[in-house]
Amino acid sequence: MGRESKKCTTFERHMTDYMLFLFINKEAWKLFSSEQREELVDHELCHFSRTSWEEPDPKIEGKWITVYGTVDDPDSWSIREHDVEEFSDIIDRHGLWETGIEQFAAAVREAEHQMNFEDVNRETKMQRVK
Ligand SMILES: [Zn+2]
Repeated sequence: MGRESKKCTTFERHMTDYMLFLFINKEAWKLFSSEQREELVDHELCHFSRTSWEEPDPKIEGKWITVYGTVDDPDSWSIREHDVEEFSDIIDRHGLWETGIEQFAAAVREAEHQMNFEDVNRETKMQRVK
């Protein structure tokens, strides 16, 4: 699909002063509507994960707050894979319920207006099993 989210190596960080790279195919970008571009960037940003943990709120007794790793610490960042991955052949043959991703299908139905090319292909397959 010509896009990739990537955490920089130490060398790349040294050379560019960037922590993360997001590559997008220029030809695909040109063809996308602004909604599709937004969805694409949102998707790719989801691949970046920042270390976080819960701590007691110093201001409010009994309340917990989410604390994030330091933004310029490479160890704070990692790449995460998709929550859901399945072969369209499996969905074709077994349907969504047997593959256990009916929740994902529901999310797709809710977000049908925000799809990229990959999703359109997947959605076409899924339409047959809905
Ligand atoms: Zn992805």
